[in-house]
Amino acid sequence: MGQQNPLQTTNDAVIPHWNDPESEQMSIVSGEDATVYDESGKAHLDFVSQLYCCNAGHSNEAIMSAVTEQMERIPYVASAKHNDTRSKLAADITEIAPDNLSEVFFSISGSEANETAIQIAREIQDGGKILTRWQSYHGGTYASGGLTGDPSTRNSLERHAATTRTEKFLPPLPKCFDGAEGEELARKAAEHLEYVIINEGKDEVAAILTEPIGGSSGAFPAPEGYFERVREICDKHDVLLIVDEVITGFGRTGEWFGIQTEDVQPDILSFAKGVTSAYVPLAGVVVSESIGEAMHNMTYDLGQTFAGHPTACAAGRAAIKEYRDGLLENAREMSPHLERRLRDLERDHDVVSDVRGRGLHWSVVFGDPETGEPIVHPWIDEDADNPVSDVLGIAQDNGVIFGGGRPKTQLLVTPPLCVTEAEIDEAIDTLEEAIVDVFD
Ligand code: PLP
Repeated sequence: MGQQNPLQTTNDAVIPHWNDPESEQMSIVSGEDATVYDESGKAHLDFVSQLYCCNAGHSNEAIMSAVTEQMERIPYVASAKHNDTRSKLAADITEIAPDNLSEVFFSISGSEANETAIQIAREIQDGGKILTRWQSYHGGTYASGGLTGDPSTRNSLERHAATTRTEKFLPPLPKCFDGAEGEELARKAAEHLEYVIINEGKDEVAAILTEPIGGSSGAFPAPEGYFERVREICDKHDVLLIVDEVITGFGRTGEWFGIQTEDVQPDILSFAKGVTSAYVPLAGVVVSESIGEAMHNMTYDLGQTFAGHPTACAAGRAAIKEYRDGLLENAREMSPHLERRLRDLERDHDVVSDVRGRGLHWSVVFGDPETGEPIVHPWIDEDADNPVSDVLGIAQDNGVIFGGGRPKTQLLVTPPLCVTEAEIDEAIDTLEEAIVDVFD
């Protein structure tokens, strides 16, 4: 009898998240920096940082030792009590967050962080509606799934129960505003938002919640000036501005947080994923001084056992130090090379209708060469063979993992912040070969 591979995974009892019975998922058993290894020992470049979250790459020694040290001292302290590691992480986060944000309320997942954000907004404001964008993703639990603009997530939940008081507005994309771009797009998209606020009843709207740059829905930055106008509109109508930085936080876009490029101060910022480089689950919200003060003086009977878990907080402190000590700088240095390589793809392949993003967070959009419209839109034609899935599959077979966008008319390119120029070249060469294979 042959030797049994001790890393062989038996998946029978695990129901994968985002399950698709048609597609088989690989089993990943180890990793180092930007590379992961499957159970056969094959290496794959991880150009999606698993779920846009392992920002420091895999097997980062500093984060792993911080976790071990905390485990050995005290692994867990109740979330209603104080703990030194938790307090220090809160201080670290407020130091790098936009200047006006000064208090942290911890949570566990990005979905829960967004639920916390809207709960706080509703508590502080005298209104219950929350406005979010179409073409957005904010989580998959009942409330956060209701915030999510992507219909496949939202409808999976809303077919069974009403989600509460969330309304949608259009993202600042040319397609939504008659092809407008730049300043004109910023103006039209902001005017539209104001129209929605007024028509929803400005006193009923507690907050708008938005990703500063589209996340899994397509890595689209807002046109310059858009967020400044959004801030003005929020101030004018007494609406809070909540930014969802679950993907864009912790260096992903070349700044600590995506909104910092816009030079706008939000009232609440939600975070998760990259805070610990996903080594241990952790999330939370950072709030403005006035909201923080109101919360300190409020009695609220809400909390979660694992929120602000000290072991996760230790991972968070070490991850932030790693970002500060070189990874953020590396992301900034690598970003122009990645952008150049992706723009070359757009130039050289008619089916690549757009590439967009910032830092190490990019999307490659596929479209009909004549019209730019999706070749197959999986939300319209569920049963059609989707060439974007084929590109993803071929790239994966050839050793590079990219992410499927929402909708999968695009793919996402989001490597860990430790990525090298040679790895970018290898990954984009592989992507180009897959595009040629599928479309030429
Ligand atoms: N917000 C954004 C922008 C996300 O991309 C995600 C997950 O991908 C979430 C929230 C939800 O986070 P979680 O999956 O940790 O609940």
